[in-house]
Amino acid sequence: MDSAPKRSSKIVVPCIRCGACCRWKGQVKVTDAEIARIAQFLGLTQEDFIASYTVLRQDRRGLGIRMLADGTCVFLDEKNECRIHSVKPAQCKGYPLKWRNLSSEHLCHAVKTLIEQGVLPPNELQFPPTFRK
Ligand code: SF4
Ligand code: SF4
Repeated sequence: MDSAPKRSSKIVVPCIRCGACCRWKGQVKVTDAEIARIAQFLGLTQEDFIASYTVLRQDRRGLGIRMLADGTCVFLDEKNECRIHSVKPAQCKGYPLKWRNLSSEHLCHAVKTLIEQGVLPPNELQFPPTFRK
């Protein structure tokens, strides 16, 4: 029987809750199921949620969470906490173990530490689900 541990379930991400990953420019994909879940969490209709909090993604294949002009996610609050944490999109839940970018190594304390600990390999570019082909 294969009892190999699942990597992401064993690693504690040394996140310092700086909020940098919710501020850099990029897109956060939201699926239909996530839209339904987040809208319900916020007490909105899906139509109202879509109108207020989403934009068409650059590839025009679906919707993403709306960002402010400086790249900050609309759901990041003044304490660097996510207002929809319990229902946030899979792309947010998957960072940084399931995807990261080259900037992560310099901007994210968690990634930097995991690389120093040898848990993550350095200089590895992994695309978020939004950009996967
Ligand atoms: S950038 Fe890294 S350390 Fe900062 S909140 Fe995001 S995951 Fe945590
Ligand atoms: S939804 Fe939450 S976790 Fe995702 S980018 Fe926005 S503030 Fe960050």
